[in-house]
Amino acid sequence: MPLCPMRQMLDEARKSGYGVGAYNVNNMEQIQAIVQAARETLSPLIIQASKGALEYTNLIYLKHLMAAAVEDNPDLPIVLHLDHGPNLKLCKEAIALGFTSVMIDGSIDYDKKTPDGKHPARSFEDNLRATKEVVDYAHARGVSVEGELGTLGGIEEDTHADKVLLTDPNQVEEFCKRTGVDALALAIGTSHGAYKFKHEPVLAMDLISECRKRVADTAFVMHGSSSVPQELIAEVNKYGGKMPGAMGVPIKSIQEAVKRGIQKINVDTDGRLVVTAAIRKVFVEKPGEFDPRKYLGPAREALAALIASKMRDFGTAGHAKDYKPKTLDEMKKFYTKKK
Ligand SMILES: [Zn+2]
Repeated sequence: MPLCPMRQMLDEARKSGYGVGAYNVNNMEQIQAIVQAARETLSPLIIQASKGALEYTNLIYLKHLMAAAVEDNPDLPIVLHLDHGPNLKLCKEAIALGFTSVMIDGSIDYDKKTPDGKHPARSFEDNLRATKEVVDYAHARGVSVEGELGTLGGIEEDTHADKVLLTDPNQVEEFCKRTGVDALALAIGTSHGAYKFKHEPVLAMDLISECRKRVADTAFVMHGSSSVPQELIAEVNKYGGKMPGAMGVPIKSIQEAVKRGIQKINVDTDGRLVVTAAIRKVFVEKPGEFDPRKYLGPAREALAALIASKMRDFGTAGHAKDYKPKTLDEMKKFYTKKK
């Protein structure tokens, strides 16, 4: 089975009413763990890499690790997605590497810096222009595109939005129509990182329903959707970590969001936490251990179990054989017809 276009995977999810997790990767163990979870639960899968991940792996290593995951799992529909693409240049590079989907985060101008070292937010029209440019390039090659409207709080690699600006549903309809994006990240009150909230969060659920009412066939994306399980934080801290007060989005809120119209759920922090907890545990319990396989191995197992539980919770489990992935050539024709 070839790589899957994201457009098709999220169309299928929307029609059947489930969410697909998009999991960030930087190394071999993470990639292996995530595809193992998908294999065990028979789930379609989005593997995503940020600009930071591509830099960390010198592009080429990550490309081949992802390609290995696809080759090793010919029966799974897998999307390779660029997370928070800062500009057309990096989107082009990702497409050249074989990604079947790119995000252009036009909500922030990554190429400019304000005097305090942050990237400024873009105006609606500037966001629209930056996004449209990527859509034109990507769709001509059959590649799917995710955009973003509104800004998310918290720190993700290279994302320095300091305040949350909820998505305006009035703009969503116009943005989707004028750019032709396949998926759109909505700012509904989630935030990147492990320290999202002080109390259980109130997310703007009505905003999702309102956007879904106005736009029928664009997938909606929820960023910063790690649940930051308290037992995981306790585990990290038990073995010498210091993460007091970390808190995320409860699974039941994610399930509610999926019911109202979210199809793609971005998860990064929970994966980092489970890996950190597993490695810390080995270091504390076996201080004489110095074979990396002896701590990266358990970390990989723990990550696979965590992702498998998410695939069940998001409703992704069991849907891997529902459809045959389209080729990028078929998608090119699909986009030409749509114009
Ligand atoms: Zn994000």
